[in-house]
Order: sequence, then C-alpha cells, then structure tokens
Amino acid sequence: MSAVLDQMRLEGKVAIVTGSGRGLGRAMAIALADAGADLVVTARTPSEIEETAREIERIGRRVLTVPADITRPEDVDHLVKATMERFGKVNILVNNAGVAIVRSIQEMSVEEWRMTLDTNLTSLYLCCRAVGPHMIAQRQGKIINITSIDGAAGKATLVAYCASKGGVIQFTRALAVEWSKFNVQVNAIGPGAFYTRPMAVVFDDEKLGPIRRKKIPAGREAALKSWAPWPFISPHPHQTS
Ligand code: NAP
Repeated sequence: MSAVLDQMRLEGKVAIVTGSGRGLGRAMAIALADAGADLVVTARTPSEIEETAREIERIGRRVLTVPADITRPEDVDHLVKATMERFGKVNILVNNAGVAIVRSIQEMSVEEWRMTLDTNLTSLYLCCRAVGPHMIAQRQGKIINITSIDGAAGKATLVAYCASKGGVIQFTRALAVEWSKFNVQVNAIGPGAFYTRPMAVVFDDEKLGPIRRKKIPAGREAALKSWAPWPFISPHPHQTS
C-alpha cells in the first residue's frame, strides 16, 4: 500500500454509520472497516444490520449492532450510549440513513412530508447532538453527511427529498463552522445515482430506466458490490458498455 493510503488508515478509530443495513451505508461501513476502523452498524431492520456486521467481522474488525430509528431522539441517545459503553469513544459519524418518497406536492401527506424531513434532516441534528460532547471532549471528530445532487438541483415529484437534502448541505456548512474550533470536521458527500433498493424501482423500469440513464453523463448508474474490499469496482447487470 502507498504511503498516502497508509496515512488514511483508520486502525483504532470507531465509526458509526447510520442506515448501514443495506445500500450505500452498508458499503461505507464495510469500506471503513476495510480501512481499519471498528464499526457501529445501525438501522431499523435487525436482520440487515446483522448481515453487515458479519461482513465486518469477516474483515477482522470489532462491530456493534444497534437497531434504532434515527428519527427518535431516545433511539439516537441509546445508539451513542451503547457505542460509548462498548468502545469508549466515537471518532467518525456517517449520517447516511435516508428516504425518498416520489409524490407530487398535492398528493404528499403531512405525515410523509414530516417523515422525509425527520429521516433525512432532523436525524442529523439528533445524531450530531448526541456524538458532539464526546468528539468535542476528545478534540477530534469527523462527521460525514450524505446529501444528494437533489440537494442542489430541483426535481419534480421529489420536493420533500430535495428540500431535506438541500437542508443537509446548509446544516453541514453551519455545523462545520461551529465545531471547527474543536477540531471536529463536518463535511457532506452528494453521490450520483447508485443502483440500490430505492433506485432499482427506477432503473429496472422499462420506460424510466433508459430515460434516467440518459441523464447520467456516464450513461449508467454506479454499482455497489458491498462485500468486495475497497475500491468497489464491479461489473453491473445494467452496464451498457
Ligand atoms: P437504502 O438502500 O434504502 O438504504 C437506506 C438505509 O437507511 C437502510 O439501511 C435503512 O434501514 C436506513 N433507514 C431508513 N430510515 C431509517 C430510520 N428512520 N432509522 C434508521 N435507519 C433508517 O438507500 P440508499 O440508496 O443506500 O441511500 C442511502 C443514502 O444515500 C440516503 O441518504 C440517500 O438519500 C442517499 N443517496 C442515495 C443515492 C442513490 O443513488 N442510491 C444518491 C444520492 C444520495 P431500515 O429501513 O432497516 O431502517
């Protein structure tokens, strides 16, 4: 391994990845473990987080699974308490869990609107508020928030999602300024389109799939092969060339 990659190793670090039962969160949790970190894997579905945990154990890292709904303050507080009890510290928080409801604004219910904002945005406040005291006390922390291209661009039938992901960008900017003096860095990543469960509905659709792919400069969605070591480069069933 090169000297540059050596400097990026994460041995001795503890990372929480929300929504790590499947999709991008699972891939990121495994990538962090592959880079040397111990992991806290969390989402609402116990069977999925257990599966991610098994992959991490196979890599040889320590892992804690905590079933939690990140829209519930008591679940989030329990998540961080359990992390501290098991590992005694938290160095990295990846705020990944998210949902997208495809609905025109007239058809979207107040419950769906609130659920989207609670899951995609308020959860960041809850998770950062819970890890903050520990990262500030140790004068070290990395927070990575997962936003989306849709946080910067508008899309019809995705108003709540776009609003929440735009909020993630501004949340990140403001907290980065607030916590920089504590050596806690707050950043955001806006992935392009990946073939995960929510996106499969679009990419597997005979009509929608080709239309969506045409809008991607590479002409295809990104593939995840979360059981493979970093970097995740894998052939994809829908890859055209
Ligand atoms: P996914 O496959 O549906 O995974 C979402 C994860 O979040 C699951 O583990 C889910 O587990 C968890 N989750 C959802 N609601 C939760 C809640 N209330 N409490 C705790 N966990 C919850 O989605 P994905 O495609 O990997 O997307 C992951 C993130 O990347 C999202 O923030 C999404 O907006 C963003 N993103 C995705 C793409 C893409 O192309 N896929 C592009 C840009 C941005 P449970 O349901 O078991 O709780």
